[in-house]
Amino acid sequence: MIRLKDVEKTYENGTEALQGISFTIEDGEFVFLVGPSGSGKSTIIKLLTGEVIPTAGRVMVNGFSMSRISDRQIPYMRRTIGVIFQDFRLIPKKTVFDNLSLAMRAVGATPRDIRTRIPYVLELVGLKGMEDRYPDELSGGEQQRVAIARALVNNPSTIVADEPTGNLDPNRSLEIMTLLERINALGTTVVVVTHERDLVNHFDKRVIMIDHGQVNGDGVGTYEV
Ligand code: ADP
Ligand code: ADP
Repeated sequence: MIRLKDVEKTYENGTEALQGISFTIEDGEFVFLVGPSGSGKSTIIKLLTGEVIPTAGRVMVNGFSMSRISDRQIPYMRRTIGVIFQDFRLIPKKTVFDNLSLAMRAVGATPRDIRTRIPYVLELVGLKGMEDRYPDELSGGEQQRVAIARALVNNPSTIVADEPTGNLDPNRSLEIMTLLERINALGTTVVVVTHERDLVNHFDKRVIMIDHGQVNGDGVGTYEV
């Protein structure tokens, strides 16, 4: 479960990025986080990954209190979350297999786990048999699927995606969002930041709207400016 309660974040330069944010995302939900540029969406994502510490309020992520978490606990908290970015962030000099196995070795998976898990997640994201490809041998949509596979490989309870379709054309974007919907149907909580309104309205999901560091809408269905 993700719970933000009266969260404020003021950056070192005085920018008040979040000004009292509260919402709860239950296990198994699919949620879009939308809002104009500069409204605070990325700051919320960074609170969830522990990159940013709240100035005030409480942030709970999968049982961890992010305002009190110790450096020693952070790796354990991060294992509960898989993160996907707009620019994929694959390692260009490594194959698909190696990109994924690195993520598994980082949490101490055995070679045997790695050999069985990687084909499974690649099939799940529609990239069966692509283990030996390098990122530059894949299309943008395929690279994002590899990034999704990497986010899933350690079986997190939550996937957080920051503008995952920002570099993709509308058809590829729809495919990626549909894949995230399927992953959600298999039980993973999914939080997607996007400002692609048509894409959001294609899906009948909960939408949390952020504006000027505050929640200004939260509900299921079509959203408008
Ligand atoms: P950028 O990040 O590229 O500067 P913006 O985030 O300002 O772009 O907005 C991109 C598009 O998404 C715009 O057409 C804008 O109207 C739309 N948009 C952004 N936030 C919302 C929102 N809360 N509701 C509806 N449409 C939105
Ligand atoms: P969004 O993701 O909706 O575009 P952000 O969370 O990136 O919004 O930014 C919210 C506000 O905080 C913006 O005014 C932005 O300029 C500011 N901001 C973001 N990161 C920093 C930072 N590291 N230092 C200072 N200000 C920041």
